[in-house]
Amino acid sequence: MFKIKETIFVKSVVDQKDRPGPNLPEFAFAGRSNVGKSSLINCLVNRSNFAHVSKSPGKTRTINYYKINNIFYLVDLPGYGFARISKEEKKSWQKMIENYLVRNPLLETVFVLIDSKVGLKDSDLELFEWLHFHAIPFKAILTKSDRVNRNSQEKLISELVAILKSGDRKQIIVFSVKTRQGRDEILADIVRKLEDKPIPGLNS
Ligand code: GDP
Repeated sequence: MFKIKETIFVKSVVDQKDRPGPNLPEFAFAGRSNVGKSSLINCLVNRSNFAHVSKSPGKTRTINYYKINNIFYLVDLPGYGFARISKEEKKSWQKMIENYLVRNPLLETVFVLIDSKVGLKDSDLELFEWLHFHAIPFKAILTKSDRVNRNSQEKLISELVAILKSGDRKQIIVFSVKTRQGRDEILADIVRKLEDKPIPGLNS
């Protein structure tokens, strides 16, 4: 199994002209504010306080780059879907995210996080539509699976399969920080993408 040996927080950027070097494959994480994105990133890299676990939803409006084993970046995109946000703010958020996602040859996969308890919201559906339209590869991660029973999890999975154009359950990963369910699956998914690339040290 792939081991994360080194995680370095590289930088936070607002403008893509400030993106960090060197160029490495990127795996981005997106989701509504409070979906559990920081917790998931911390769990992936086995740190308790690496990505900031926010107490005030929607505060972070930067794109944060974490370099893993010097072979790829985990990219933490700012949370969306806050109720109290001005049109102006929403526009600038969208622009920041779109500039990151569109025409980014380094981007391998966008993991879109959905809170298992909250379910799908319009903002999630808009993002799926948008990723699909731009032919950007993505997967859905259902977070906080420990907070729901099997029935409601299955219901959400069916709902999601119906709206994802591929109609494929393999595009969905069920995850919990509490039980660590899904962690290996996410890492395996990342490694699978990297395996096609000539990257020294990937499997060592
Ligand atoms: P972010 O705003 O998307 O970065 O979300 P956070 O990682 O800050 O998490 C939001 C809240 O959900 C926090 O109170 C976390 O402790 C809680 N949380 C995150 N992941 C899980 C999980 O897998 N299970 C449970 N029960 N709570 C979680």
